[in-house]
Amino acid sequence: MNRKEIVEELSKIVGKENVLFSEMQKRLFGYDASLYRANPDCIVLPSSTEDVSRVVAFAYKHGIRVVARGAGTNLSGGSVPSQGGIVLQFSRMNDILEIDIENQRVVVEPGIVTLDMKNVLAGYGYIYQPDPASEKVTTLGGNFAENSGGPHCLKYGVTGNHVLGAEVVLANGDVVEVGGKALDNPGYDLTGLLVGSEGTLGIITKITLRIVPKGEAVKTMMAIYNTLEDGGNTVSDIIADGIVPATLEMMDNLTIKAVEGAFNLGLPLDAAAILLIEVDGLTDGMERLAERVMEICRKNNVREVKAAKDEAERAKLWAGRKGAFGAIGKLRPNYLVCDGTVPRTELSVVLSKVMEIGKQYDLAIANVFHAGDGNLHPLILFDERDKDELDRVHKAGMDILKLCADHGGTISGEHGIGTEKMDAMSFVLSPADIAAMKKVKKAFDPEGVFNPDKIFSN
Ligand SMILES: Cc1cc2nc3c(=O)[nH]c(=O)nc-3n(C[C@H](O)[C@H](O)[C@H](O)COP(=O)(O)OP(=O)(O)OC[C@H]3O[C@@H](n4cnc5c(N)ncnc54)[C@H](O)[C@@H]3O)c2cc1C
Repeated sequence: MNRKEIVEELSKIVGKENVLFSEMQKRLFGYDASLYRANPDCIVLPSSTEDVSRVVAFAYKHGIRVVARGAGTNLSGGSVPSQGGIVLQFSRMNDILEIDIENQRVVVEPGIVTLDMKNVLAGYGYIYQPDPASEKVTTLGGNFAENSGGPHCLKYGVTGNHVLGAEVVLANGDVVEVGGKALDNPGYDLTGLLVGSEGTLGIITKITLRIVPKGEAVKTMMAIYNTLEDGGNTVSDIIADGIVPATLEMMDNLTIKAVEGAFNLGLPLDAAAILLIEVDGLTDGMERLAERVMEICRKNNVREVKAAKDEAERAKLWAGRKGAFGAIGKLRPNYLVCDGTVPRTELSVVLSKVMEIGKQYDLAIANVFHAGDGNLHPLILFDERDKDELDRVHKAGMDILKLCADHGGTISGEHGIGTEKMDAMSFVLSPADIAAMKKVKKAFDPEGVFNPDKIFSN
């Protein structure tokens, strides 16, 4: 079937206003926040599960690839249609279908923007905990498929810890329910399998999430250090003390400079590291807890530590962290975000080796990361028009992932494997491990319809 025929048939299924195929539109849906690019044959905007089911059944019958897409912010090539085919863009399926406060559940369509849903829940005094720094634009479907994390996942867990069920369109177009509102469901845990499957096993058309009442009190602190090592040791010492803060985020000197340049927050440009520490819970005991955290910072040679006095000051501290990636984007035309995880106790040594890798390849690296989870995000700065520099970036990125694996960590904390890290799977998984995963892919998607060239080569 040629492109024209594909577009004609899809137009009959979803209406021609819901099929895009101009050259410009194809380019617009051919990229994500990674370094990969590939145009689809067309883009379909479904409005219902039935639309998705019929489009997928059509693609299955004709051997056409289908790639689901939320906001396209993933950092590993996850929504790039590497073999063309259909991009299913979920911006029209963005409703909250049910808010069940009594049972602390919410049911949403996959295209809803994460923060939009959270803002609605805030009106009920409720919160959905996962908070990817990109939540202003990301969709719950993308968060589900990437098993996204965020600053508050140290205490509350990643997306998968809050997903209870989903409606899924299988490769032949069949629609099934996995999990549900209950905490335990009979049979295999297919919800657990699908979360983090990066659109390779099925298309998510509804998601059931756990929500909780908003906490009583929160205290946010900023600690400034003259060495990265002191910052890293503070992270380990806080956890070793039995405290689990809601967040423990770190920025290094290059990030501090970029954030200050972009937002003028009054951050010290000569500091080696800043820790953003947030504790939350009951009002009773909160001051004592914050004081204990600050004591641990002082024991680790903190240069200055202070707590936000009110919500406005807290928002200011967070603006810097949440805007850090954007601020770093002003330093060079491109950056590659590495996403490796190491045991917290290895943070200091791994960070200094990351900087050595930067020197070895003559590349500037900025670090802004979820320190409490040991989840590093070295951002390697470059200009993609310089092919030699681009080549060095790829090599440095791989070396950083290998470094994390060699230090007892892994190759992804939250950004998925996508295309970018397929070759790094062997750093942490044996051939037998990967073969077992491929069998799962084969069982769900025997014809390889969904999202090819992701996680492992098909
Ligand atoms: C500035 C910036 C900051 C970021 N911060 C964080 C962070 O703190 N934590 C974090 O974890 N990530 C972060 N990310 C990465 C990214 O935002 C997340 O991976 C996010 O979950 C992607 O959501 P999306 O809607 O953009 O999905 P997309 O990028 O469109 O898609 C991601 C994957 O989900 C699949 N998918 C999308 N919808 C569906 C569906 N309905 N059914 C099946 N599969 C589907 C796609 O095929 C693809 O494989 C950041 C990215 C940027 C650019």
